[in-house]
Amino acid sequence: RCLPVENNTEVYPRNVAGACFSYVQPTPVDNPQLVAVSPSAMALLDLSQYELERSEFVHYFSGNLPIKGSRTAAHCYCGHQFGYFSGQLGDGAAMYIGEVVNHKDERWEIQFKGSGLTPYSRHADGRKVLRSSIREFLCSEAMHHLGIPTTRAGSCITSDSEVLRDIYYSGNPIKEKATVILRIAPTFLRFGSFEIFKPLDKITGSMGPSVGRKDILIQLLEYTINTHFPHVAAKYPDSDKERYLAFFEEVVKATAKLVALWQCVGFCHGVLNTDNMSIAGITIDYGPFGFLDVYDPDYVCNASDDGGRYAFINQPEACKWNLSKLAEALASVLPLADSNPVLEKYNELFHKFYLEKMRLKLGLIRKQLPGDEYILSVVHQNKLLFVFFWVGADFTNSFRCLNKLRISEPDRSFSELKACLLSQCTSLKDLKKRSKPSMPQSQLNMLISMIQANPNLITQMGQTALRIKNDLEKLEKLRDLNDLTEDEKRQSDNLIWDGWLKKYQCRLHIEVEHLDVDAIKTERIEVMNSNNPRFILRNYIAHNAIIQAEKGDYSEIRRVLKLLQNPYSSQLNENYQTVDYYHQTGQSNGNNRIFDYDGLPPEWSHDLRVT
Ligand code: AMP
Ligand code: MG
Ligand code: MG
Repeated sequence: RCLPVENNTEVYPRNVAGACFSYVQPTPVDNPQLVAVSPSAMALLDLSQYELERSEFVHYFSGNLPIKGSRTAAHCYCGHQFGYFSGQLGDGAAMYIGEVVNHKDERWEIQFKGSGLTPYSRHADGRKVLRSSIREFLCSEAMHHLGIPTTRAGSCITSDSEVLRDIYYSGNPIKEKATVILRIAPTFLRFGSFEIFKPLDKITGSMGPSVGRKDILIQLLEYTINTHFPHVAAKYPDSDKERYLAFFEEVVKATAKLVALWQCVGFCHGVLNTDNMSIAGITIDYGPFGFLDVYDPDYVCNASDDGGRYAFINQPEACKWNLSKLAEALASVLPLADSNPVLEKYNELFHKFYLEKMRLKLGLIRKQLPGDEYILSVVHQNKLLFVFFWVGADFTNSFRCLNKLRISEPDRSFSELKACLLSQCTSLKDLKKRSKPSMPQSQLNMLISMIQANPNLITQMGQTALRIKNDLEKLEKLRDLNDLTEDEKRQSDNLIWDGWLKKYQCRLHIEVEHLDVDAIKTERIEVMNSNNPRFILRNYIAHNAIIQAEKGDYSEIRRVLKLLQNPYSSQLNENYQTVDYYHQTGQSNGNNRIFDYDGLPPEWSHDLRVT
């Protein structure tokens, strides 16, 4: 470590000035038990299957036994939470364990999450419970195998140590099991790591604990660039400003790329505060995340995000805002006048990455046409996603269906595809339930009349306008829906799909013009199948595994982990079905309900939301 570290090893919550880390020790847990391990993540640390199966394993990776050579510490960082500067946050439940350079000369930082109190635990206990640990463990590995940059999860170890949690704010907290996961990443540095130097914030009255310490900011920045962006360090060894600017540019680019991948897979992070934004452009800090089931741009996965700040459709803009806070944090060494033009490239970068990925999802691999933007574009009034929204299409499964269209057999494949898509549309009953406008009706009516009086308003309002437009459409749609029967809805879904699919079919014809149809067919289908996952960690799949784990049975988690390691698999293996533990009948008398991991989510799961 070459960063300033606080040497006070006593643990009590406090503001830690003049340091990026504080030395702390993991607090041991009672009777550690292995929930699951990810061999492929552990292989990053050169740990073999033999070592994973040794009886000492759970003692080392629960924090009960010290790992040789490690000097454990908690990282001090700040953050803007839900738009406001919160001052010091820091590793309140996580701990830096050390760094491993593996046989490939890759350097991996390892961390325990849930290993006890640190100076940054504030009012909380530094522990994590089984259910949230399982969610993070599974999702980290799922994202990795989907090809989305992320922290990895090596192991999940629970214990007999109890912690109290009041999930419903009922005043009656219940006992849950303290659980520790091992996280692995090139770095856990966040945007918020650079916010510990922030001067007094006039709105919240908070400030960074190391305010005014430009010397430490420079050390932190140099450490970050030298260690994690060595090509930037090598390119601009003599110019601080150019080096810092190039670093910022890399972060902007990596962030834009990451969010584009989230949007293309339907991942909603849930807590996009600056302290949960990785400097390396990886997904970090899995909390109340969610994958879209039905496509809903306004999907909010975090039950405590009342305003929908981190709704699915807002993620690209939220991350840009976070980058602007990073730019502010660097302003004393990199003037905003220099960083702003770089930040302004974000939208274009996002758009480029988004279209690149969407093109692969649709199998448009040989040609780029200006009209593609129209078929795919980002905003929700666009064609494909608009159709998804309108009919209540399952995001993941509808994309997966699209590979059915064949240029060589237009008619047969067209009807096959349409049948597949129609089977992924939400019923009228569910659609009505989820089409509630995000604003109170009265406020919405007021805005509608303002916009009717002055149509220019909508372009002046930017972000808010998008929301209102969404709401207007929803209202419009609700009005339509109220007059429809299930049969009529099916007919209207049918028509709506037709319009888009005909366009798509024409576009595919241009794709293969003057080319060997058969050759491109195989390539196209392979590309589509490796960009449209069949298995994602839907909330209900995680929930189903958690129900069993809380009874002490970890087999479902291990099954789900295996499944998520091959998210693009088209093989019909026997493991794609499981028992619906929510409805388990008790005896395994063959009466258990089952579900397909790649099917539509069961009805009981429609309102699952996580805090
Ligand atoms: P999050 O929004 O989950 O990323 O966390 C925000 C802040 O709360 C971070 O400083 C975390 O370290 C801290 N935190 C979250 N959970 C706990 C916990 N169980 N004990 C102590 N600190 C926590
Ligand atoms: Mg966090
Ligand atoms: Mg968290």
